[in-house]
Amino acid sequence: MVSNFLSTSDFHIQIWFWPKVCIRKMTIEREIKTAMVIFSRHGQTLAVEPFSEKIEKYHAAISRTHLQMRKIGVLEACSICARRKSGSCCFKGVEEWYDSTPLLINLFMGVDLLMKREVQDGCLFAGSNGCRLIARHSFCVNYLCPDLATSLKEDERKILAAISGEELLLGWELESLIRDRLMALRRDLLNEPRS
Ligand code: SF4
Ligand code: SF4
Repeated sequence: MVSNFLSTSDFHIQIWFWPKVCIRKMTIEREIKTAMVIFSRHGQTLAVEPFSEKIEKYHAAISRTHLQMRKIGVLEACSICARRKSGSCCFKGVEEWYDSTPLLINLFMGVDLLMKREVQDGCLFAGSNGCRLIARHSFCVNYLCPDLATSLKEDERKILAAISGEELLLGWELESLIRDRLMALRRDLLNEPRS
């Protein structure tokens, strides 16, 4: 029965299953709640193969990007910058660019999605030691501000772009798999006879 999938009180979560063009933009709090409900009720259904292989590959690619960022000083520069009161690209509002699918992936990776803002005027996901997410938006992975970009050598920028490009591709593949499975789940539940 559809009502077993998401309760009536989760109506705002039900609209997640309809095409985005048909609904008003949900707030990040609702996207987080949606991700949490799907994770707790349908995590096991979604995580059948090749899910674990894809999430492992994606996680490994994220680690390679981090390693390269650390090697060339990007991680250190950005974590200092993100704690500043202004000027960081981790500004308040970037969190709204996330929908429930990448947040769901973060839950599968063990991230605790807190609703409390740690950095005032900063992104909801900015913490005292940098970003609290593992799976991040393409902007967050790719963006280098002009100061940081000019401080890097050309080959450092090229190598980083190649490594982070692989991360984004694997993230996109995993998101596509999850979105397809959620659509199939929704179709199955809608086709079940109502008791
Ligand atoms: S890319 Fe630039 S603006 Fe953004 S966090 Fe790093 S140093 Fe700061
Ligand atoms: S999600 Fe993370 S990297 Fe992206 S803007 Fe927010 S704190 Fe910065």
